[in-house]
Amino acid sequence: MENAISAPAAGKGGPIVVAGAGYAGLHIALRLTARLRDNTLVELTLVDRHDYHQVLTELPRVAGGTRAGGAVRIPLQDVLAERVRFVQTEISGFDLAGRRLLTGAGPIGWRWLVLALGSRPDDFAIPGLAQRALSVYSASDAELVWAAVSEALDAAAAAADPQRQRRLATVVVGGGGATGVELAGELAEVLPQVARGRGQAPDRPAVLLVEAGPTILAGSSPQLIDKATRILADLGVQVRTNAVVAAATEQGFRLTDGQLVEGGVFVWAGGVKAPELVADSGLPTGHNGRVKVDQYLRALDHPEIYVAGDLASVTDPRTGHVLPPLAQVAREEGETVARNLAAELTGRPLEAFTFHDKGFVVSVGTRRGVADIAGITAGGRAAHLLKDAIEWEYRQSVTHLREWDPLAR
Ligand SMILES: Cc1cc2nc3c(=O)[nH]c(=O)nc-3n(C[C@H](O)[C@H](O)[C@H](O)COP(=O)(O)OP(=O)(O)OC[C@H]3O[C@@H](n4cnc5c(N)ncnc54)[C@H](O)[C@@H]3O)c2cc1C
Repeated sequence: MENAISAPAAGKGGPIVVAGAGYAGLHIALRLTARLRDNTLVELTLVDRHDYHQVLTELPRVAGGTRAGGAVRIPLQDVLAERVRFVQTEISGFDLAGRRLLTGAGPIGWRWLVLALGSRPDDFAIPGLAQRALSVYSASDAELVWAAVSEALDAAAAAADPQRQRRLATVVVGGGGATGVELAGELAEVLPQVARGRGQAPDRPAVLLVEAGPTILAGSSPQLIDKATRILADLGVQVRTNAVVAAATEQGFRLTDGQLVEGGVFVWAGGVKAPELVADSGLPTGHNGRVKVDQYLRALDHPEIYVAGDLASVTDPRTGHVLPPLAQVAREEGETVARNLAAELTGRPLEAFTFHDKGFVVSVGTRRGVADIAGITAGGRAAHLLKDAIEWEYRQSVTHLREWDPLAR
Protein backbone atom coordinates (compact mmCIF):
# COMPACT_ATOMS: atom_id res chain seq x y z
CA MET A 1 0.00 0.00 0.00
CA GLU A 2 1.18 3.49 -0.81
CA ASN A 3 -0.02 6.92 0.23
CA ALA A 4 1.69 8.96 -2.48
CA ILE A 5 -0.27 11.92 -3.84
CA SER A 6 0.17 13.30 -7.34
CA ALA A 7 -0.58 16.74 -8.68
CA PRO A 8 -2.62 17.00 -11.87
CA ALA A 9 -0.48 17.57 -14.94
CA ALA A 10 -1.30 19.38 -18.15
CA GLY A 11 -0.81 18.18 -21.72
CA LYS A 12 -0.94 14.66 -23.05
CA GLY A 13 0.84 13.01 -20.13
CA GLY A 14 0.07 13.02 -16.43
CA PRO A 15 -1.39 10.60 -13.95
CA ILE A 16 -4.15 8.17 -14.82
CA VAL A 17 -6.13 7.12 -11.77
CA VAL A 18 -8.42 4.08 -11.88
CA ALA A 19 -10.95 4.04 -9.03
CA GLY A 20 -12.06 0.47 -8.31
CA ALA A 21 -10.24 -2.85 -8.87
CA GLY A 22 -13.29 -4.87 -9.89
CA TYR A 23 -14.06 -6.41 -13.29
CA ALA A 24 -13.78 -3.14 -15.18
CA GLY A 25 -11.07 -1.38 -13.17
CA LEU A 26 -8.69 -4.33 -12.93
CA HIS A 27 -9.08 -5.02 -16.66
CA ILE A 28 -8.23 -1.40 -17.44
CA ALA A 29 -5.19 -1.42 -15.13
CA LEU A 30 -3.88 -4.65 -16.67
CA ARG A 31 -4.53 -3.60 -20.27
CA LEU A 32 -3.02 -0.15 -19.76
CA THR A 33 0.06 -1.72 -18.21
CA ALA A 34 0.62 -3.54 -21.47
CA ARG A 35 -0.37 -0.63 -23.70
CA LEU A 36 1.88 1.84 -21.87
CA ARG A 37 4.94 -0.39 -21.92
CA ASP A 38 6.76 2.12 -24.15
CA ASN A 39 5.57 5.09 -22.13
CA THR A 40 7.11 4.94 -18.68
CA LEU A 41 6.32 8.61 -18.00
CA VAL A 42 2.61 8.07 -17.42
CA GLU A 43 1.87 7.22 -13.83
CA LEU A 44 -0.87 4.63 -13.47
CA THR A 45 -2.61 4.39 -10.09
CA LEU A 46 -5.27 1.89 -9.04
CA VAL A 47 -7.33 2.62 -5.93
CA ASP A 48 -9.55 0.20 -4.02
CA ARG A 49 -10.68 -0.33 -0.44
CA HIS A 50 -9.47 -3.94 -0.64
CA ASP A 51 -6.05 -5.27 -1.56
CA TYR A 52 -7.73 -8.08 -3.48
CA HIS A 53 -9.99 -8.45 -6.51
CA GLN A 54 -13.27 -10.26 -5.88
CA VAL A 55 -14.62 -12.78 -8.37
CA LEU A 56 -18.22 -11.80 -7.70
CA THR A 57 -19.69 -14.25 -10.22
CA GLU A 58 -18.58 -17.09 -7.92
CA LEU A 59 -20.21 -15.67 -4.76
CA PRO A 60 -23.30 -17.94 -4.90
CA ARG A 61 -20.92 -20.88 -4.41
CA VAL A 62 -19.37 -19.22 -1.35
CA ALA A 63 -22.84 -18.46 0.04
CA GLY A 64 -23.79 -22.10 -0.57
CA GLY A 65 -20.70 -23.36 1.23
CA THR A 66 -19.25 -25.11 -1.82
CA ARG A 67 -16.33 -22.67 -2.25
CA ALA A 68 -14.11 -20.98 0.33
CA GLY A 69 -14.31 -17.18 0.55
CA GLY A 70 -10.54 -16.98 0.15
CA ALA A 71 -10.80 -18.69 -3.23
CA VAL A 72 -12.72 -15.76 -4.72
CA ARG A 73 -10.35 -13.09 -3.39
CA ILE A 74 -7.43 -12.67 -5.80
CA PRO A 75 -4.58 -10.72 -4.14
CA LEU A 76 -3.86 -7.68 -6.32
CA GLN A 77 -0.13 -7.98 -5.70
CA ASP A 78 -0.26 -11.33 -7.52
CA VAL A 79 -1.71 -9.83 -10.69
CA LEU A 80 -0.53 -6.22 -10.86
CA ALA A 81 2.81 -5.31 -12.37
CA GLU A 82 5.25 -3.09 -10.51
CA ARG A 83 4.52 -0.08 -12.66
CA VAL A 84 0.95 0.10 -11.32
CA ARG A 85 0.90 2.06 -8.10
CA PHE A 86 -1.79 0.51 -5.93
CA VAL A 87 -3.37 2.56 -3.14
CA GLN A 88 -5.58 0.67 -0.71
CA THR A 89 -7.97 3.23 0.73
CA GLU A 90 -11.62 4.22 0.95
CA ILE A 91 -12.69 6.75 -1.69
CA SER A 92 -14.93 9.29 0.02
CA GLY A 93 -15.69 11.86 -2.71
CA PHE A 94 -14.52 13.91 -5.68
CA ASP A 95 -13.07 17.35 -6.22
CA LEU A 96 -14.05 17.62 -9.87
CA ALA A 97 -12.82 21.19 -10.35
CA GLY A 98 -9.45 20.40 -8.75
CA ARG A 99 -9.30 16.99 -10.49
CA ARG A 100 -8.71 15.14 -7.25
CA LEU A 101 -10.08 11.93 -5.82
CA LEU A 102 -10.78 12.35 -2.10
CA THR A 103 -9.65 9.33 -0.13
CA GLY A 104 -8.68 8.15 3.34
CA ALA A 105 -5.06 8.32 2.17
CA GLY A 106 -5.44 11.98 1.14
CA PRO A 107 -6.40 13.53 -2.21
CA ILE A 108 -5.11 11.80 -5.35
CA GLY A 109 -4.73 14.02 -8.41
CA TRP A 110 -5.55 12.89 -11.91
CA ARG A 111 -5.11 13.96 -15.50
CA TRP A 112 -7.58 11.25 -16.45
CA LEU A 113 -9.84 9.49 -13.98
CA VAL A 114 -11.58 6.16 -14.55
CA LEU A 115 -14.58 5.50 -12.35
CA ALA A 116 -15.22 1.78 -11.91
CA LEU A 117 -16.77 1.59 -8.46
CA GLY A 118 -19.41 -1.03 -9.24
CA SER A 119 -22.78 -1.25 -7.48
CA ARG A 120 -24.30 -1.83 -4.09
CA PRO A 121 -27.46 -3.74 -3.20
CA ASP A 122 -30.71 -1.84 -3.73
CA ASP A 123 -33.23 -2.35 -0.92
CA PHE A 124 -35.82 -0.21 -2.79
CA ALA A 125 -36.42 1.57 0.54
CA ILE A 126 -38.40 -1.46 1.76
CA PRO A 127 -38.75 -0.95 5.52
CA GLY A 128 -36.57 -3.26 7.60
CA LEU A 129 -34.91 -4.93 4.63
CA ALA A 130 -31.39 -3.59 5.15
CA GLN A 131 -31.51 -4.67 8.83
CA ARG A 132 -33.28 -8.02 8.44
CA ALA A 133 -31.85 -9.48 5.21
CA LEU A 134 -28.29 -10.37 4.27
CA SER A 135 -26.96 -9.38 0.88
CA VAL A 136 -24.51 -11.10 -1.40
CA TYR A 137 -22.28 -8.48 -2.99
CA SER A 138 -18.84 -9.32 -1.59
CA ALA A 139 -16.90 -12.36 -0.47
CA SER A 140 -17.51 -11.32 3.14
CA ASP A 141 -21.27 -11.03 2.49
CA ALA A 142 -21.30 -14.51 0.98
CA GLU A 143 -19.35 -15.93 3.92
CA LEU A 144 -21.91 -14.35 6.26
CA VAL A 145 -24.76 -16.00 4.35
CA TRP A 146 -23.17 -19.43 4.68
CA ALA A 147 -22.42 -18.84 8.38
CA ALA A 148 -26.04 -17.76 8.99
CA VAL A 149 -27.40 -20.79 7.13
CA SER A 150 -25.14 -23.14 9.12
CA GLU A 151 -26.18 -21.49 12.38
CA ALA A 152 -29.87 -21.70 11.49
CA LEU A 153 -29.53 -25.42 10.68
CA ASP A 154 -27.80 -25.99 14.03
CA ALA A 155 -30.59 -24.12 15.79
CA ALA A 156 -33.17 -26.16 13.88
CA ALA A 157 -31.43 -29.40 14.89
CA ALA A 158 -31.55 -28.30 18.55
CA ALA A 159 -35.23 -27.25 18.43
CA ALA A 160 -37.84 -29.69 19.76
CA ASP A 161 -40.91 -28.29 18.00
CA PRO A 162 -41.11 -29.53 14.35
CA GLN A 163 -42.78 -26.30 13.21
CA ARG A 164 -39.97 -24.22 14.69
CA GLN A 165 -37.45 -26.64 13.19
CA ARG A 166 -38.97 -26.15 9.75
CA ARG A 167 -39.04 -22.36 10.06
CA LEU A 168 -35.42 -22.13 11.20
CA ALA A 169 -34.25 -24.44 8.42
CA THR A 170 -35.91 -22.34 5.71
CA VAL A 171 -33.81 -19.94 3.65
CA VAL A 172 -35.77 -17.19 1.92
CA VAL A 173 -34.12 -15.55 -1.10
CA GLY A 174 -35.66 -12.28 -2.30
CA GLY A 175 -35.20 -11.51 -6.00
CA GLY A 176 -35.47 -14.01 -8.84
CA GLY A 177 -32.79 -12.58 -11.10
CA ALA A 178 -29.61 -14.48 -11.95
CA THR A 179 -28.06 -13.99 -8.51
CA GLY A 180 -31.20 -15.12 -6.68
CA VAL A 181 -31.64 -18.17 -8.92
CA GLU A 182 -27.98 -19.18 -8.56
CA LEU A 183 -28.08 -18.76 -4.80
CA ALA A 184 -31.38 -20.63 -4.33
CA GLY A 185 -30.21 -23.48 -6.59
CA GLU A 186 -26.86 -23.82 -4.85
CA LEU A 187 -28.46 -23.91 -1.38
CA ALA A 188 -31.22 -26.31 -2.39
CA GLU A 189 -28.61 -28.72 -3.71
CA VAL A 190 -26.31 -28.69 -0.67
CA LEU A 191 -28.67 -28.26 2.29
CA PRO A 192 -30.11 -31.82 2.35
CA GLN A 193 -26.57 -33.18 2.72
CA VAL A 194 -25.75 -30.65 5.42
CA ALA A 195 -28.95 -31.54 7.31
CA ARG A 196 -28.11 -35.23 7.10
CA GLY A 197 -24.68 -34.45 8.56
CA ARG A 198 -26.43 -32.83 11.53
CA GLY A 199 -28.65 -35.81 12.12
CA GLN A 200 -31.70 -34.12 10.58
CA ALA A 201 -34.05 -35.36 7.90
CA PRO A 202 -32.63 -34.30 4.50
CA ASP A 203 -36.00 -32.88 3.51
CA ARG A 204 -36.15 -30.61 6.57
CA PRO A 205 -34.33 -27.57 5.04
CA ALA A 206 -36.32 -25.56 2.51
CA VAL A 207 -35.42 -22.82 0.05
CA LEU A 208 -37.98 -20.22 -1.04
CA LEU A 209 -37.39 -17.86 -3.93
CA VAL A 210 -39.60 -14.78 -3.79
CA GLU A 211 -39.90 -12.66 -6.95
CA ALA A 212 -41.95 -9.47 -7.37
CA GLY A 213 -42.49 -9.89 -11.12
CA PRO A 214 -44.47 -12.50 -13.02
CA THR A 215 -41.39 -14.59 -13.79
CA ILE A 216 -37.88 -15.42 -12.61
CA LEU A 217 -34.93 -14.34 -14.82
CA ALA A 218 -37.00 -11.49 -16.26
CA GLY A 219 -35.92 -10.44 -19.73
CA SER A 220 -34.60 -13.90 -20.66
CA SER A 221 -36.13 -16.11 -23.34
CA PRO A 222 -39.25 -18.13 -22.34
CA GLN A 223 -37.29 -21.33 -23.08
CA LEU A 224 -34.51 -20.39 -20.68
CA ILE A 225 -37.00 -19.39 -17.97
CA ASP A 226 -38.85 -22.67 -18.44
CA LYS A 227 -35.67 -24.76 -18.15
CA ALA A 228 -34.49 -22.88 -15.06
CA THR A 229 -37.94 -23.21 -13.44
CA ARG A 230 -37.90 -26.97 -14.04
CA ILE A 231 -34.44 -27.43 -12.52
CA LEU A 232 -35.39 -25.33 -9.49
CA ALA A 233 -38.56 -27.42 -9.03
CA ASP A 234 -36.50 -30.59 -9.31
CA LEU A 235 -34.19 -29.27 -6.58
CA GLY A 236 -37.20 -28.56 -4.38
CA VAL A 237 -36.96 -24.75 -4.50
CA GLN A 238 -40.36 -23.17 -3.90
CA VAL A 239 -40.65 -20.28 -6.34
CA ARG A 240 -43.22 -17.58 -5.60
CA THR A 241 -43.69 -15.03 -8.36
CA ASN A 242 -45.82 -11.84 -8.19
CA ALA A 243 -44.80 -11.77 -4.53
CA VAL A 244 -43.89 -8.18 -3.68
CA VAL A 245 -42.06 -7.66 -0.39
CA ALA A 246 -43.61 -4.70 1.48
CA ALA A 247 -41.57 -4.95 4.69
CA ALA A 248 -39.03 -7.13 6.43
CA THR A 249 -39.79 -7.76 10.09
CA GLU A 250 -38.56 -10.03 12.88
CA GLN A 251 -41.20 -12.54 11.72
CA GLY A 252 -40.15 -12.55 8.06
CA PHE A 253 -40.94 -10.92 4.71
CA ARG A 254 -44.39 -9.31 4.76
CA LEU A 255 -45.83 -9.26 1.21
CA THR A 256 -48.07 -6.51 -0.17
CA ASP A 257 -51.01 -8.96 -0.12
CA GLY A 258 -50.54 -9.29 3.65
CA GLN A 259 -49.00 -12.78 3.62
CA LEU A 260 -45.99 -13.49 5.80
CA VAL A 261 -43.07 -15.46 4.41
CA GLU A 262 -41.29 -17.05 7.37
CA GLY A 263 -37.79 -18.44 7.52
CA GLY A 264 -34.57 -18.77 9.48
CA VAL A 265 -32.35 -16.84 7.06
CA PHE A 266 -33.30 -14.04 4.65
CA VAL A 267 -31.11 -13.00 1.74
CA TRP A 268 -31.85 -10.06 -0.57
CA ALA A 269 -30.78 -10.29 -4.21
CA GLY A 270 -33.43 -7.94 -5.57
CA GLY A 271 -31.26 -5.52 -7.52
CA VAL A 272 -28.39 -3.06 -7.42
CA LYS A 273 -27.83 0.69 -7.61
CA ALA A 274 -24.83 3.01 -7.86
CA PRO A 275 -22.65 3.73 -4.81
CA GLU A 276 -23.88 6.60 -2.64
CA LEU A 277 -20.82 8.82 -3.11
CA VAL A 278 -21.50 9.10 -6.85
CA ALA A 279 -24.94 10.62 -6.18
CA ASP A 280 -23.27 13.54 -4.38
CA SER A 281 -20.48 13.92 -6.92
CA GLY A 282 -22.03 16.44 -9.29
CA LEU A 283 -21.60 13.99 -12.18
CA PRO A 284 -24.66 13.52 -14.45
CA THR A 285 -26.53 10.43 -13.28
CA GLY A 286 -29.46 8.48 -14.70
CA HIS A 287 -31.37 5.31 -13.84
CA ASN A 288 -30.26 3.75 -10.52
CA GLY A 289 -27.75 6.56 -10.03
CA ARG A 290 -25.45 5.30 -12.79
CA VAL A 291 -23.26 7.91 -14.50
CA LYS A 292 -24.36 9.04 -17.96
CA VAL A 293 -21.61 8.69 -20.55
CA ASP A 294 -20.96 9.56 -24.18
CA GLN A 295 -20.22 6.99 -26.89
CA TYR A 296 -16.55 6.88 -25.83
CA LEU A 297 -17.54 6.10 -22.20
CA ARG A 298 -16.59 9.57 -20.92
CA ALA A 299 -18.89 11.13 -18.30
CA LEU A 300 -21.14 13.71 -19.99
CA ASP A 301 -19.56 17.19 -19.73
CA HIS A 302 -16.41 15.66 -18.17
CA PRO A 303 -14.20 14.42 -21.02
CA GLU A 304 -11.34 13.73 -18.58
CA ILE A 305 -13.43 11.18 -16.66
CA TYR A 306 -14.12 7.73 -18.10
CA VAL A 307 -16.71 5.44 -16.51
CA ALA A 308 -16.91 1.65 -16.90
CA GLY A 309 -18.75 -1.33 -15.47
CA ASP A 310 -21.92 -1.26 -13.38
CA LEU A 311 -21.44 2.45 -12.70
CA ALA A 312 -21.72 3.46 -16.37
CA SER A 313 -25.17 4.07 -17.81
CA VAL A 314 -24.68 2.90 -21.39
CA THR A 315 -27.61 2.61 -23.77
CA ASP A 316 -27.40 -0.20 -26.32
CA PRO A 317 -28.44 1.46 -29.60
CA ARG A 318 -29.79 -1.86 -30.91
CA THR A 319 -32.32 -2.29 -28.08
CA GLY A 320 -32.64 1.24 -26.70
CA HIS A 321 -32.13 -0.22 -23.22
CA VAL A 322 -29.39 0.54 -20.71
CA LEU A 323 -26.93 -2.38 -20.62
CA PRO A 324 -27.37 -4.60 -17.57
CA PRO A 325 -24.85 -4.69 -14.70
CA LEU A 326 -22.87 -7.73 -15.84
CA ALA A 327 -19.24 -8.80 -15.65
CA GLN A 328 -19.02 -9.34 -19.41
CA VAL A 329 -20.26 -5.78 -20.02
CA ALA A 330 -17.76 -4.43 -17.46
CA ARG A 331 -14.85 -6.20 -19.15
CA GLU A 332 -15.83 -5.00 -22.63
CA GLU A 333 -16.24 -1.43 -21.43
CA GLY A 334 -12.90 -1.74 -19.65
CA GLU A 335 -11.29 -2.78 -22.92
CA THR A 336 -12.68 0.30 -24.73
CA VAL A 337 -11.60 2.63 -21.92
CA ALA A 338 -8.06 1.21 -21.94
CA ARG A 339 -7.87 1.68 -25.72
CA ASN A 340 -9.23 5.22 -25.50
CA LEU A 341 -6.81 6.26 -22.78
CA ALA A 342 -3.95 4.89 -24.87
CA ALA A 343 -5.38 6.84 -27.84
CA GLU A 344 -5.53 10.05 -25.78
CA LEU A 345 -1.84 9.68 -24.94
CA THR A 346 -0.80 9.18 -28.54
CA GLY A 347 -3.24 11.66 -30.11
CA ARG A 348 -5.17 8.96 -31.97
CA PRO A 349 -8.97 9.16 -32.43
CA LEU A 350 -11.17 7.68 -29.73
CA GLU A 351 -13.15 4.49 -30.28
CA ALA A 352 -16.93 4.37 -29.75
CA PHE A 353 -18.09 1.58 -27.45
CA THR A 354 -20.08 -1.30 -28.95
CA PHE A 355 -21.29 -4.21 -26.86
CA HIS A 356 -20.88 -7.71 -28.31
CA ASP A 357 -23.29 -9.93 -26.42
CA LYS A 358 -21.75 -13.36 -25.84
CA GLY A 359 -24.91 -14.80 -24.32
CA PHE A 360 -26.31 -15.48 -20.89
CA VAL A 361 -25.40 -18.38 -18.59
CA VAL A 362 -26.80 -19.08 -15.14
CA SER A 363 -25.89 -22.00 -12.88
CA VAL A 364 -28.85 -23.65 -11.18
CA GLY A 365 -27.49 -25.82 -8.42
CA THR A 366 -24.07 -27.43 -8.27
CA ARG A 367 -24.43 -29.58 -11.41
CA ARG A 368 -26.89 -27.98 -13.79
CA GLY A 369 -27.48 -24.63 -15.42
CA VAL A 370 -29.21 -22.78 -18.26
CA ALA A 371 -27.72 -20.85 -21.16
CA ASP A 372 -28.89 -18.69 -24.07
CA ILE A 373 -26.11 -18.43 -26.64
CA ALA A 374 -26.59 -17.19 -30.21
CA GLY A 375 -30.33 -17.88 -30.09
CA ILE A 376 -29.89 -21.44 -28.79
CA THR A 377 -31.13 -22.35 -25.32
CA ALA A 378 -29.45 -25.11 -23.36
CA GLY A 379 -30.24 -26.53 -19.96
CA GLY A 380 -28.59 -29.14 -17.78
CA ARG A 381 -25.03 -30.32 -17.20
CA ALA A 382 -23.56 -28.71 -20.33
CA ALA A 383 -24.74 -25.24 -19.28
CA HIS A 384 -23.15 -25.67 -15.85
CA LEU A 385 -19.88 -26.77 -17.45
CA LEU A 386 -20.06 -23.68 -19.64
CA LYS A 387 -20.40 -21.48 -16.55
CA ASP A 388 -17.36 -23.25 -15.02
CA ALA A 389 -15.43 -22.66 -18.25
CA ILE A 390 -16.32 -18.94 -18.27
CA GLU A 391 -15.08 -18.57 -14.70
CA TRP A 392 -11.90 -20.49 -15.49
CA GLU A 393 -11.29 -18.31 -18.56
CA TYR A 394 -11.78 -15.19 -16.47
CA ARG A 395 -9.16 -16.21 -13.94
CA GLN A 396 -6.80 -17.14 -16.77
CA SER A 397 -7.33 -13.78 -18.45
CA VAL A 398 -6.38 -11.90 -15.29
CA THR A 399 -3.06 -13.75 -15.15
CA HIS A 400 -2.52 -13.65 -18.89
CA LEU A 401 -2.97 -9.88 -19.13
CA ARG A 402 -0.35 -9.38 -16.47
CA GLU A 403 2.07 -11.57 -18.37
CA TRP A 404 1.95 -9.10 -21.23
CA ASP A 405 3.83 -6.60 -19.11
CA PRO A 406 7.55 -6.66 -19.75
CA LEU A 407 8.19 -4.96 -16.39
CA ALA A 408 6.42 -7.76 -14.48
CA ARG A 409 8.54 -9.84 -12.09
C1 LIG B 1 -23.55 -12.62 -6.52
C2 LIG B 1 -23.28 -12.05 -7.89
C3 LIG B 1 -23.23 -12.91 -8.98
C4 LIG B 1 -22.98 -12.38 -10.25
N1 LIG B 1 -22.93 -13.25 -11.32
C5 LIG B 1 -22.68 -12.76 -12.55
C6 LIG B 1 -22.56 -13.64 -13.66
O1 LIG B 1 -22.71 -14.86 -13.53
N2 LIG B 1 -22.28 -13.10 -14.88
C7 LIG B 1 -22.08 -11.76 -15.05
O2 LIG B 1 -21.81 -11.31 -16.18
N3 LIG B 1 -22.19 -10.88 -14.01
C8 LIG B 1 -22.47 -11.35 -12.77
N4 LIG B 1 -22.56 -10.50 -11.71
C9 LIG B 1 -22.41 -9.04 -11.95
C10 LIG B 1 -20.94 -8.65 -11.99
O3 LIG B 1 -20.25 -9.19 -10.89
C11 LIG B 1 -20.82 -7.13 -12.01
O4 LIG B 1 -21.52 -6.64 -13.12
C12 LIG B 1 -19.36 -6.70 -12.10
O5 LIG B 1 -18.68 -7.04 -10.91
C13 LIG B 1 -19.24 -5.18 -12.35
O6 LIG B 1 -17.90 -4.84 -12.41
P1 LIG B 1 -17.43 -3.41 -11.88
O7 LIG B 1 -15.98 -3.34 -12.18
O8 LIG B 1 -18.33 -2.37 -12.39
O9 LIG B 1 -17.68 -3.47 -10.30
P2 LIG B 1 -17.07 -4.43 -9.21
O10 LIG B 1 -16.56 -5.68 -9.80
O11 LIG B 1 -18.12 -4.54 -8.15
O12 LIG B 1 -15.83 -3.61 -8.64
C14 LIG B 1 -15.97 -2.39 -7.97
C15 LIG B 1 -14.72 -2.17 -7.12
O13 LIG B 1 -14.77 -0.86 -6.57
C16 LIG B 1 -14.35 -0.93 -5.21
N5 LIG B 1 -14.99 0.19 -4.50
C17 LIG B 1 -16.30 0.55 -4.54
N6 LIG B 1 -16.52 1.64 -3.82
C18 LIG B 1 -15.32 1.99 -3.28
C19 LIG B 1 -14.90 3.07 -2.44
N7 LIG B 1 -15.76 3.98 -1.99
N8 LIG B 1 -13.60 3.14 -2.10
C20 LIG B 1 -12.70 2.21 -2.54
N9 LIG B 1 -13.05 1.19 -3.36
C21 LIG B 1 -14.34 1.08 -3.73
C22 LIG B 1 -14.82 -2.29 -4.74
O14 LIG B 1 -14.06 -2.73 -3.61
C23 LIG B 1 -14.60 -3.15 -5.98
O15 LIG B 1 -13.33 -3.77 -5.98
C24 LIG B 1 -22.79 -10.99 -10.42
C25 LIG B 1 -22.82 -10.14 -9.31
C26 LIG B 1 -23.05 -10.67 -8.05
C27 LIG B 1 -23.08 -9.76 -6.86
